[in-house]
Amino acid sequence: VAKGAGKGQWRRYQADLHLAVLNRLELRAALDQAVVDGDFTLRYQPIVELETGAPAGFEALIRWTHRSRGLIPPGDFIEVAEESGLIVPIGTWVMHNAMAQAAQWHRDWADGTPPYVSVNVSVRQVRNAGFAEQVHRGLAASGLPPGALVLEITESLLLRDDEQVWKDLAALREIGVRVAIDDFGTGYSSLSYLRHVPADVLKIDRSFIDTMSTSEQQRALVDAIVRLAHTLGLQVVAEGVEHPSDRVLLQAMGCRLGQGYLFSKPLSFPDAVAWLRQRGPG
Ligand code: C2E
Ligand code: MG
Ligand code: MG
Ligand code: MG
Repeated sequence: VAKGAGKGQWRRYQADLHLAVLNRLELRAALDQAVVDGDFTLRYQPIVELETGAPAGFEALIRWTHRSRGLIPPGDFIEVAEESGLIVPIGTWVMHNAMAQAAQWHRDWADGTPPYVSVNVSVRQVRNAGFAEQVHRGLAASGLPPGALVLEITESLLLRDDEQVWKDLAALREIGVRVAIDDFGTGYSSLSYLRHVPADVLKIDRSFIDTMSTSEQQRALVDAIVRLAHTLGLQVVAEGVEHPSDRVLLQAMGCRLGQGYLFSKPLSFPDAVAWLRQRGPG
């Protein structure tokens, strides 16, 4: 604070700081209770074939069903959940429910490949001993085939040199579970790094897709990412596809899969099932 700024401004700054700390503690306590009460629900956002619009998968996205505030998006509580360790029981809940619900749409499916389920996992969760075991148990209990499960890990978190995490992910890949690098392009990874990462899918962060139709440079960047991914044998999913023009551009680049408001917002489980019935082979 500049010398001339005065005492009042400094006090206000301190008051804000105090409020932020209080809110964080309150949030943590409320989240603790939410875990006990099971006040969470999952939304499912379709991931589609850009060419046909056919369903390829669903990303499971958590919401906190707060008594007075309604549905709270993960951006408002995942960080606190990670700091406090509550992400471990929350992650367990997500994994269990996403697999059980995906197994349900798998049972309904007549023929062809039913859509996979893509589950976000935080590194703190993967680092917790017993993560791999939890995935195995979840698959066995739900009857979901391992090939129908994708685990999404943020690029920035994968960048940390974490031998055990990589080993666990590699072992899960051996049974057919796939790993996706989420928010790609935001984590400053090097090209050589990508070559060594145990991954199958690369999700291009929506900030790139956002600016693609107005910026030649961004377009070139997305094109380069798609090529690079394909060279490395990775499948590409474009996040945040909102405009028909994005879809056309991505298709021309050879990107096969997309996700975004153009196709659908995240849906409740019954709505996701209804969405599938309208499009799937049954
Ligand atoms: P993410 O994994 O990158 O998920 C995509 C986010 O983009 C979702 O936000 C989704 O609703 C939003 N989105 C999808 N299409 C569009 C679009 O066309 N335009 C715009 N503007 N946004 C779009 P959401 O559901 O709020 O989730 C935010 C983040 O929270 C996720 O980003 C993910 O990192 C994290 N998250 C969500 N669920 C879980 C979970 O179960 N566990 C963990 N550890 N993290 C989660
Ligand atoms: Mg994700
Ligand atoms: Mg993410
Ligand atoms: Mg993402």
